[in-house]
Amino acid sequence: MVPGMSIMKNSELWNRRQSAVPQGVGVMHPVFATRARNAEIWDEEDKRYIDFASGIAVTNTGHNHPVIKKAIADQLENFSHVCFQVTPYDGYIRLAERLNEIAPGDSPKKTIFLTTGAEAVENAVKIARAATGRPGVIAFSGGFHGRTMMGMALTGKVAPYKIGFGPFPGEVFHAPFPANYLGISDAMSLAALENLFKSDIEPSRVAAIILEPVQGEGGFYTASAEFLRALRAICDKHGILLIADEIQSGFARTGAMFAVNHAGIEPDLITIAKAMAGGVPISGVIGKAKIMDAAAPGGLGGTYGGSPLGCAAGHAVLDVIESEALCERAIEVGDRIKRRCEAMRQSDTGIGDIRGPGAMVAMEMIKDNDASIPDPDRTRAIVANARDRGLLLLSCGVRANVIRFLAPLTIEFDVLDEGLDMLADAVANS
Ligand code: PMP
Repeated sequence: MVPGMSIMKNSELWNRRQSAVPQGVGVMHPVFATRARNAEIWDEEDKRYIDFASGIAVTNTGHNHPVIKKAIADQLENFSHVCFQVTPYDGYIRLAERLNEIAPGDSPKKTIFLTTGAEAVENAVKIARAATGRPGVIAFSGGFHGRTMMGMALTGKVAPYKIGFGPFPGEVFHAPFPANYLGISDAMSLAALENLFKSDIEPSRVAAIILEPVQGEGGFYTASAEFLRALRAICDKHGILLIADEIQSGFARTGAMFAVNHAGIEPDLITIAKAMAGGVPISGVIGKAKIMDAAAPGGLGGTYGGSPLGCAAGHAVLDVIESEALCERAIEVGDRIKRRCEAMRQSDTGIGDIRGPGAMVAMEMIKDNDASIPDPDRTRAIVANARDRGLLLLSCGVRANVIRFLAPLTIEFDVLDEGLDMLADAVANS
């Protein structure tokens, strides 16, 4: 590596990115990746970074896991695309069978595979409407469900996701998500939902209620088990379907295969994507069999839905989660992160809530120990300072003041501790 020359590389690529790619694609780090292994990424300048982002909760099984790499390579030897709707293949069926088996609840299940998270959400709504014959969908403020038209309509955050893109599909309503730290209790959220039934749409016209059991982009606020059970009861009372969007929280991230496992409820439909195939684009909807069969033949699908490579990787991910006990490891990784953040908070009045199940941990930045005063500037500064030190972090939150930790669940503990040292230095110096 030639020193002076290498320094140009990220900035050179950044300039080319500015000319060639629209600004609407936000980029969090001006760091151009060349290779990665488990929880480490190297950039164009051969600088090493510890990855606490996992490509936004995708590489729960680490970068380039040998078992997943081999599964993809083996599949490539056979075929990479034929289209399930033209000549189906066994890998899709077997993956559906495995997910039907592990999905929460006793009802028989069916699974359809798609390509992106937003597409899974779109399909869950289509299926819910077909199954109920009703139009309405209720989502929650602060929720994120994707960048397609229905995804945006359901998303409960205007900036930056919805600005300039309307009109959105109708019959979508929002209730406040219960977040005690923001002063919204379970009871307040449930009362607001009841109020929606009075002020906006009668329950008999609502097809589905969709929520993230742990809000991802919204700031890692967790819906309590009691709240999820109350929602389940409301849905049962009115014949409304409950959709759990587990796109960010699924696949061992929270210390269970799905975040709703902690509450012991059975959603009618579950959307999955991201970590399910460790980086190969594939998503899906798992649901109660009768509901899943509501759509007429030909109504669901997509050219790439359930691609052979995605299915092969999906099997390998399930194997790795099991063989490496990643649900248990998520709890260990998360505890280690939380302990370190708690220690930092002892001497830092800018660190507010530290929360999240398993390894879906977040730290909320505030001013002067006052939860009502968010500190988005310091949040941004910490993320930038950590990057300079070699640690990749993501921020999130409805108030843009939350640092979220999404390290691979397979991260070596010495690498995790090294990353946490960098975090502590970044927090102390920002
Ligand atoms: N739902 C949730 C909960 C998500 O976190 C995301 C992505 N951040 C999506 C939906 C959309 O997924 P995708 O970007 O793959 O379309």
